Amino acid sequence: MRVCVIGAGAMGSLFGGFLAPMASVVLLDPWRAHVEAINRQGLRIGSPEGERTVQVKAVSVAEEVGAVDLAIVFVKSHQTAWAAEVAKGLLGPQGLALTLQNGLGNGETLARIVGEERTCVGVTAHGATLLGPGQVRHAGKGATHLGRTPLIANKVVAVADLFAAAGLETHISDNLDSLVWGKLVINVGINALTALMRVKNGLLEQMPPLRQVMDAAVSEAMLVAQAKGISLPYPDPVAQVAAVCRTTAGNRSSMLQDTLRGQLTENEVINGAIVREAATLGIAVPVNQTLYSLLKGLEATYGLRET
Ligand code: NAD
Repeated sequence: MRVCVIGAGAMGSLFGGFLAPMASVVLLDPWRAHVEAINRQGLRIGSPEGERTVQVKAVSVAEEVGAVDLAIVFVKSHQTAWAAEVAKGLLGPQGLALTLQNGLGNGETLARIVGEERTCVGVTAHGATLLGPGQVRHAGKGATHLGRTPLIANKVVAVADLFAAAGLETHISDNLDSLVWGKLVINVGINALTALMRVKNGLLEQMPPLRQVMDAAVSEAMLVAQAKGISLPYPDPVAQVAAVCRTTAGNRSSMLQDTLRGQLTENEVINGAIVREAATLGIAVPVNQTLYSLLKGLEATYGLRET
């Protein structure tokens, strides 16, 4: 299978690195130093088990990719429309664009541009951090779930087989909303708060005032999911988010990494998505509204911060 990973940051590099021995993989990313490092010395993937180097091709412009069967979108959500346009240009009629991004709405953006018959939405519990050009840390292992719809049933099986052969635990699910909202509720609890407090995930669970805010944000998101008729893939969302904080205690959430780099976060598609969904349902979500607004303010004042 010919694969292009569109957006080879931490997660795109990680997945590209896993898939490269099993498929013809190209990483597409605008960060030239990263692309050059990968082409020069290979992609270095570090984990608690050690470091390995994977040979994989990287390019910084879409024109150098060529036709592919699978486009995996791993840009941040504000670049999804751009990535979808790139995918549209790379995929043939039988191709598939897969998003494993966090947040709400990436799948809809992808489907609008490449067509529902070429769109797959999934979630992954893997975690990764870019350490520098050509170097990624595999921070946490987990399962990947691919959402199946009748339009893409056969293609999803082929992708799941490829992922499994590459050593990525992969499951196919027919309940897409449950998958996406299950991940969304975790991100709602952890991401904004770690970014605002500048702390690693574990402290949210250990410090009572932070735990209180996290639990409240998660409870609000749970109410919104319930009102939409979505059943989450775990029985107790508050306990689930706390458990994720414990298992990822030493991780810097992606939103924390974004804010430390002075970049836009995925606020709009995480806490912002809860605020928008709640508004259409007439549900009050004051904690999510506050987290959303504070993070918007943080993004708008990177250059104005007192030291
Ligand atoms: P990332 O922040 O690692 O990369 C995003 C973009 O920023 C890439 O184009 C990358 O090249 C660029 N970039 C990163 N560091 C840079 C630097 N120092 N200088 C210049 N450019 C730099 O993105 P990610 O964490 O891989 O997230 C991609 C998607 O996957 C998001 O939707 C995210 O929510 C989702 N996701 C992330 C994780 C995770 O653990 N990181 C887990 C699950 C899902």
